[in-house]
Amino acid sequence: MKIIIIGAGIGGLAAALSLHDAGFRDITVYERSSRIRGLGVGINLLPHALRELSELGVADDIAALGVAPTTLSYFTRRGQPIWSEPRGLAAGYRWPQLSVHRGRLQLTLRDLVEERLVEPIRLGHRLIGIASNADGTETARFATADGDHEVTADVIVGADGIHSASRALRYPDEGSPPWSGLTLWRGVTRIPAFLDGRTMIMAGDGDQKFVAYPLAEPSPDGRMQVNFIAERRMPGSGDADWNRAVDPSPIAEMFRGWTFDWLDIPVAIDAADEILEYPMVDRDPLPRWSFGGTTLLGDAAHAMYPNGSNGGSQAIIDARTLAFHLATADTVEQALTRYEEARRPAMTALLAGTRATGPERVMQLAAERAPEGFDDIDDVIPLEERERIAADYKTAAGFLPEALNERPSLSVRA
Ligand SMILES: Cc1cc2nc3c(=O)[nH]c(=O)nc-3n(C[C@H](O)[C@H](O)[C@H](O)COP(=O)(O)OP(=O)(O)OC[C@H]3O[C@@H](n4cnc5c(N)ncnc54)[C@H](O)[C@@H]3O)c2cc1C
Repeated sequence: MKIIIIGAGIGGLAAALSLHDAGFRDITVYERSSRIRGLGVGINLLPHALRELSELGVADDIAALGVAPTTLSYFTRRGQPIWSEPRGLAAGYRWPQLSVHRGRLQLTLRDLVEERLVEPIRLGHRLIGIASNADGTETARFATADGDHEVTADVIVGADGIHSASRALRYPDEGSPPWSGLTLWRGVTRIPAFLDGRTMIMAGDGDQKFVAYPLAEPSPDGRMQVNFIAERRMPGSGDADWNRAVDPSPIAEMFRGWTFDWLDIPVAIDAADEILEYPMVDRDPLPRWSFGGTTLLGDAAHAMYPNGSNGGSQAIIDARTLAFHLATADTVEQALTRYEEARRPAMTALLAGTRATGPERVMQLAAERAPEGFDDIDDVIPLEERERIAADYKTAAGFLPEALNERPSLSVRA
């Protein structure tokens, strides 16, 4: 079976490794960029994604790139604690959670793909068309520096991100991704280690928020590399460009007064080398991902808001699920139907959950119920309610510890 993958992002590269692991050999990845530059800042991979990487035999390569957070804690704008929970191994999963630089993750996955696949990644190939043929095959058309170029395959996997051409070819009237009205500023900074040096924190509410997590162990001087996302509701535009750099100072100013005993947020923002501005956008759920031998995967299928750390994780799980069904079904059509049944309804529900702010709802509830702060969080959001919000989200995202630990493997190797 000949398979082509559109996009060498996290999802496309994970799909290449997963398909290879499932026994396919005629796999080629096509990427629009002329060079894979490893762009971005931090990204979180949840235990269910680490399980898949582990079963692909690449978890050690990936784990070496980042830090496994052991706790996730939510705070108010004033730094009052709302909720805290163990993460990864500390929460009883058989696999850790991992905070990693997206660029380093992408470059490492690229190296693994280059090592394992027969065909090198074809750079400088921008997908511009897909046609279904009478014999059941699919033909992809690419624009390259040397002119247009066509490739025919049994399966085309559209893993070309939030601005997916594969998706736009099937849904030409969809337009730009809808904007939430929130703007995100993402950066990497070096600041004194906070809390236990392995905690991911979120402070604020639905209108303004700061998220931070370590990307490396603290160095001997007690400082550490930290990824942050500052977020605020404000007039702006929903034009989504992952690489738009802006001046840190006005962003730090927006967070003036957000200085806690253990973290000075304006100082952390001001110390960033570079801040990337990005509108918080997602994509509406689709009624269908697969057409003939073509399907969608990762952000091309279900781009979501970043609350809950789903982007990279769900793309990796899509990749493994797709490879499993292609290797075990009788026909391509049956495989793509099973893949879609396994993933699309779950991602549609999760998308709705992230639009309702996912696990971060506790922060909004604390702001609404006790805008001036509180003496005891139990009087504001009872423990049972906080526990339920956290568990509901893990159910929707597919990573309740017991369910994940006991789920059969998606590996199909003998
Ligand atoms: C430059 C960049 C920086 C990012 N930074 C972050 C970050 O800091 N933190 C975070 O959480 N998430 C980041 N993301 C998003 C994150 O990678 C995804 O949400 C998630 O990993 C799902 O991956 P994906 O493979 O579906 O999409 P992506 O990782 O977005 O990959 C899509 C790939 O498809 C390629 N492509 C697009 N159109 C075409 C086409 N027509 N033909 C061929 N190839 C095409 C793109 O160049 C890209 O390599 C970033 C994405 C990009 C592209």
